[in-house]
Amino acid sequence: MRVHLKTLGCRLNEAELESWSREFRGLGHSLTQDPEQADLLVVNTCAVTEEAVRKSRKLLGRAHRQNPEARLVVTGCYASLDPTASASADGVDLVVPNQDKEQLVQIVQRELDLNIMPQSVTEEESGGLLARGRQRAFIKVQDGCRYRCTFCIVTLARGEERSRPAEEVIAEINRLHSEGIQEVVLTGVHLGGYGSDIDSDLGQLIDRVLAESEIPRLRVGSLEPWDLPDNFWSRFDNPRFMPHLHLPLQSGSDSVLRRMARRCKSDEFRRLVEEGRQQVPDLNITSDIIVGFPGETEVEWQQSLSFVEQMGFGHLHIFAYSPRSGTKAAGLPDPVPREIKRQRSEQLHQLGEQMKREMLERQLGKQVPVLVEGDGSRGWFGYTPNYLRVEIEAPADAALQNRIIEVKLEAVAAEGERLLGKTTRPL
Ligand code: SF4
Repeated sequence: MRVHLKTLGCRLNEAELESWSREFRGLGHSLTQDPEQADLLVVNTCAVTEEAVRKSRKLLGRAHRQNPEARLVVTGCYASLDPTASASADGVDLVVPNQDKEQLVQIVQRELDLNIMPQSVTEEESGGLLARGRQRAFIKVQDGCRYRCTFCIVTLARGEERSRPAEEVIAEINRLHSEGIQEVVLTGVHLGGYGSDIDSDLGQLIDRVLAESEIPRLRVGSLEPWDLPDNFWSRFDNPRFMPHLHLPLQSGSDSVLRRMARRCKSDEFRRLVEEGRQQVPDLNITSDIIVGFPGETEVEWQQSLSFVEQMGFGHLHIFAYSPRSGTKAAGLPDPVPREIKRQRSEQLHQLGEQMKREMLERQLGKQVPVLVEGDGSRGWFGYTPNYLRVEIEAPADAALQNRIIEVKLEAVAAEGERLLGKTTRPL
């Protein structure tokens, strides 16, 4: 899918364009400067003056005329202030209001059914697993993968496993912390393989980072369920190690997992999840699922759906399978028709939303430290230790940015994807 992004207005709009570009690219789409070559046009509008409104309308009209075949998405201030007029403008397929801008790429993927597998389903920056921010930094500690999951191109594209020495990782974290970063996420193409080439492992790296830095919050990115290091759970006893784990399952059907050459069957996955939840209070487990892997029958799909439901994930990343040339799966027989993939993906999205709501409801009444993000211009928000988004009731000028504050979790927002909370101490 080729994407063309247009913007009008302030620097904030431009910055958003940059982050959407990164996200679209990470999901396997490409960007084009030429609207006529695009399959998808995204127009970020402005409404600061009458003139800006007029220009926004014009930009929208021109985008459609330049390429009437492309899907057209409109967002930004004009689209938020006048959603009806925006939606009825020629050729508009979708309006994304400002309050949903941060999830624009995911919303567009879902609503316009563009979900294809990203280049690497394992890299959080590409999959949008965790949001990058001024308070959170991603530290790449590892590259390459020794496994051969049949859908994955990474293993071919990235070669042997290579790990960064712990000293280098710690020095980077200490530098970022001194620059104001409050939270770091250790990531890798195959993070669980960290240390295989330097006689170490991820557990040792986590221990050293906690001991040799003062970074207030440490997270790990996507971790294959079969390679959690020894005594992993006990590391969460340290309150600086955040209780959220993204364990990609990919399918809840053992026969599909076999065709994917995954090293963790559903029973082992279940045991792992049970063990983690027993040992780590409020552990949030999230996962990736590929829908419509070649040959996925209705029976396998139902098995997968029911297993996912039993796992009660806090969030799901859902990818419709798309073949990557050079991978073994690309040569497998019985591709799943597009319409069936779409239906299955829709069913799983609904289940994902329901599980997320249930996870959020279980948090109500708790008081947790929240790292506040943003600058308050769109309200205050942040993430709990177990990576749940909270909107915080506080005055816009409360100077909460980049602070870790205690928040009482009081309700789930009507949309069901975030919590609403209040600060518990005077600001
Ligand atoms: S473990 Fe599998 S999915 Fe993950 S990077 Fe390696 S080959 Fe790809």
